[in-house]
Amino acid sequence: MSVQNIICKKRPFSMVIATTAISLLASLPAHASFQSCVAGLSNAAKTYGISSQVRSQAFALVQPKLDAAKKAKSQPEFVKPIWQYLDSAVSPYRLKIGREKLQQHAPLFEALEVIYGVNRHVLTAVWGMESSFGSFQGKRNVIQSLVTLACYDQKRSKYARKQLNAALKIIQRGDISLQKMEGSWAGAMGQTQFIPTTYDAYAVDFDGDGKRNIWQTEADALGSAANYLRISGWTPQLPWGYEVKLPSGFNYSVVSRDSYRPASYWEKLGVKQINGKRLAYRDHELALIAPAGATGPAFILTKNFKAILRYNRSTAYALSIGHLADRLAGHAPFVAAWPTDNGPLTFSQRKMIQEGLKRAGLYSGKIDGIIGSGTQAAIKQYQARNGMQPDGYAGQKLLKKMSGS
Ligand code: CA
Repeated sequence: MSVQNIICKKRPFSMVIATTAISLLASLPAHASFQSCVAGLSNAAKTYGISSQVRSQAFALVQPKLDAAKKAKSQPEFVKPIWQYLDSAVSPYRLKIGREKLQQHAPLFEALEVIYGVNRHVLTAVWGMESSFGSFQGKRNVIQSLVTLACYDQKRSKYARKQLNAALKIIQRGDISLQKMEGSWAGAMGQTQFIPTTYDAYAVDFDGDGKRNIWQTEADALGSAANYLRISGWTPQLPWGYEVKLPSGFNYSVVSRDSYRPASYWEKLGVKQINGKRLAYRDHELALIAPAGATGPAFILTKNFKAILRYNRSTAYALSIGHLADRLAGHAPFVAAWPTDNGPLTFSQRKMIQEGLKRAGLYSGKIDGIIGSGTQAAIKQYQARNGMQPDGYAGQKLLKKMSGS
């Protein structure tokens, strides 16, 4: 698992936003260049099939907002440990409101389960995580946000241009008005925080009034989330996964959220449910993760976990959705404790780890602070050589070992 993923809370794209330094076109002379940028965007939208009426209305409202682009500049140094992420995701408040929403919208959830096969607890968890059940959807005009990114942010310009065309298409179709199309600064919209292209492909008009209104209509928002999960491969009657117990001396080289194998494979390695029983959902391909290494909890995943990752590719996010859903369904908290004395590394500390691995002759990749599979493999080798459990986890204890303190 990439450590970067932990801090991510929204679309896959926003992980990039959150972790990559923005590169402003700082030399841009403010107004004239902005106007020519907007003219270029308008031309591109025309080619995309957006009418002159929609274009002139939309682009008449946008303003040069260099400050907004600067505010987006973000290279968070500190990474929230997964246990803190889970604590805030599965908070008593969210559980309370979630239970109320489940009751309040019971007939809607019933219908969504029948049509999409996605259970109500998962949908409620997504709703709670994405917009606090619709109460925090973002107040920025989406067209303005995307124009700001397109014109001022070199790294996100391509993304923003694509999203802008999709957003204009949504307005042209009449799903929402220009003024009411609100969302985050990166263009995530409504109660489900769909970016425009996701909306375009997956949003549904579940209440049948002719508009796909994920901003104000719960049925449309939750229907859209259900449709997106179903199309992402959601299997009905299957949980995301469950907590497991690993035998001592377990070989962590097989731990990956991408390696799905038959239940028998895991059983041969001694993996059991946390209560000691044999593995459940044996007919399905299963993967195994230990997001905080050998001294933290481990989980068996089903492919429904993968479907949640389509929504947001952070392991911490998907685990939070799964656990929040379980808790809303009345299941117990996780059993194993998290290694709170061995927190994740900061961005610069991750680079120090990569440099240390390079010095040890175990790593030849980029010093980019991203713990990908190459860095992880090198960490496992380093750990094995240095009397540590080779779990590939990049935590504070590894850094201490490496710096000899
Ligand atoms: Ca509707």
